[in-house]
Amino acid sequence: MKNVTFPDGITVPALGMGTWNLGDDEARRDAEIRSIRMGLDAGLRVVDTAEMYGSGRSERLVGQAIAGRRDDVYLVDKVLPSNASRAGVRKACAASLELLGTDHLDLYLLHWRGSIPLEETVAGFEDLKRAGMIRAWGVSNFDVDDMRELARIATPDPCCANQILYSLDYRGVEYDLLGHDRAEGIVTMAYSPLGQGGELLRAPVLERVASRHETSLGPATPAQVALAWVLRQPGVLAIPKAGSPAHQRENMAAAELELTKADLAEIDDAIPPPRRKVSLAMI
Ligand code: NDP
Repeated sequence: MKNVTFPDGITVPALGMGTWNLGDDEARRDAEIRSIRMGLDAGLRVVDTAEMYGSGRSERLVGQAIAGRRDDVYLVDKVLPSNASRAGVRKACAASLELLGTDHLDLYLLHWRGSIPLEETVAGFEDLKRAGMIRAWGVSNFDVDDMRELARIATPDPCCANQILYSLDYRGVEYDLLGHDRAEGIVTMAYSPLGQGGELLRAPVLERVASRHETSLGPATPAQVALAWVLRQPGVLAIPKAGSPAHQRENMAAAELELTKADLAEIDDAIPPPRRKVSLAMI
């Protein structure tokens, strides 16, 4: 499996696990927990959650899934912009740690930009780092201008990641943001890489490419091609959400796929790359 390395030197597999909507449905809870544990058993490390997801239900479920195996996990959480004041991040982080059943996060992100000055949020993150509550910090849904503004703030520790919408449905970031973050050594965390399991997975081009490939599980699927396409980018960490062990297994096998030049050209024909600046989309 391909790896990515954060600016602080920590290396993790380029495939991680999203958890939005996990914990919302009691009937699915068991499968969701097994899905995360299966990923960790197979060597995945990144688990991504947020205080926003189900108002803590995702964090609580993640806490249950990783209980007793905290060291296997690179745990990412996100603070709401409304909580991103210097005092607010400490309070929000403490509440998240409680739900997660741990004493530290590996990476804490500002979920998106709000009205609180960035300097203040970053100062709050640095406080948390000094207190041992987080190991690193980053941002989410930041476009190039936001990243440039962030870079002008003097901080002892670097911004480690920018978590953004990146999938075949949303290629706009290929024009500038992916390259900008890569040049700065900042890891791009690609969210909703499967197009949230919607129309994208029925795109004829993905079916055609899938029909030419096999994984250890058998014939490749459109979802695996969509994921392999995101994973082809250096420095990009994809965080699909798999609510079942079957989907988790399928997503892990996507890392085996090597898309050929012909595959990529066929995909570009059907879903062209951006030719000009496209403002960053967010879900
Ligand atoms: P994804 O693109 O990961 O799609 C998830 C959907 O795809 C679910 O319905 C899932 O179903 C389905 N799915 C998963 N694996 C497969 C498969 N192999 N074949 C077919 N369908 C599959 O969407 P998300 O929006 O969940 O994004 C991933 C993660 O990114 C989130 O969970 C969250 O952690 C993060 N995120 C961050 C945002 C931000 O603002 N920073 C915004 C949005 C997401 P099932 O549940 O049945 O497996």
